Amino acid sequence: MNNIIDGKKISQDIKDEVKAEVAQLNARGVEPCLAVVLVGDDPASHVYVRNKIKACDYTGIRSVSINLPADTEESELLEKVEELNADPSVHGILVQLPLPPQIDEDKVINTIDPDKDVDGFSPISVGRLSIGLPGFKSCTPAGIIELIKRSGVSIDGKNCVIVGRSNIVGKPMAMLLLRENGTVTVCHSHTKDLRSITSQADILVAAIGKPKYFKADDIKEGAVVIDVGMDRDENGKLCGDVDFESVSNKAGYITPVPGGVGPMTIAMLMKNCVEAAERL
Ligand code: NAP
Repeated sequence: MNNIIDGKKISQDIKDEVKAEVAQLNARGVEPCLAVVLVGDDPASHVYVRNKIKACDYTGIRSVSINLPADTEESELLEKVEELNADPSVHGILVQLPLPPQIDEDKVINTIDPDKDVDGFSPISVGRLSIGLPGFKSCTPAGIIELIKRSGVSIDGKNCVIVGRSNIVGKPMAMLLLRENGTVTVCHSHTKDLRSITSQADILVAAIGKPKYFKADDIKEGAVVIDVGMDRDENGKLCGDVDFESVSNKAGYITPVPGGVGPMTIAMLMKNCVEAAERL
């Protein structure tokens, strides 16, 4: 099938572009640096952090790992973030979520200097994105825009439907598609007759976290189908929100799971780090 959007390849291309930009920055005496803060022993978080550090190593971005124990107090973490905010050698700050229950995540995100908020989660980054000011874009939706554009698909004037309205995927996705002049509809669990809306979409972004939820009947012939879901099927195998087998025969383009949206998130994080270093 030649309609599969290869997220592995596109993310690799982006990491190689970042690597070249880092070399240019180094030649100007700038050493892009990402500080990654991890609190506690959540195994999944450890894997995510390890992968981010690996990507830093590949692209030449200096990484600083700060590992704090699970019983870290909120005030200690906030102090650490303030310290990193004030450190001119640190360009990007990432606090791995989720945080232990004694720590208010919103407070932590709010404390990160918006000019170092390479995850794009702070209310200031979200606000900047909403009104079209320069700022960091949330990595997963920014990666989706790259997947669509680098597949040669124009978003301009397209009927774009996003299913899911989370702060990290659905909402910033809507803003980014709007920025590209898409006509955007956001659906959620209260949406009535979801199929009547998804089946009109030229570009469908599925981000609900329900394994293989969208079937061929939910999709318009030739649509671009972006599957953000990272779910487990009945056999415990990783799958997306889209039933790839049936939908891939009808879609114009489709992202697989794994190997679609997933690898883009870290690549875009690297891109944001370089942007941060260029700006500061
Ligand atoms: P989330 O915070 O749980 O939000 C899910 C959204 O889907 C909510 O807005 C919910 O509506 C909506 N929804 C749930 N069931 C629905 C249904 N049957 N019909 C219509 N809407 C429905 O999830 P998230 O964090 O955005 O993540 C979504 C999926 O993407 C998950 O599988 C997650 O693992 C994956 N993900 C992947 C990446 C990546 O890098 N590939 C990154 C982030 C997330 P309400 O608002 O009404 O509750």
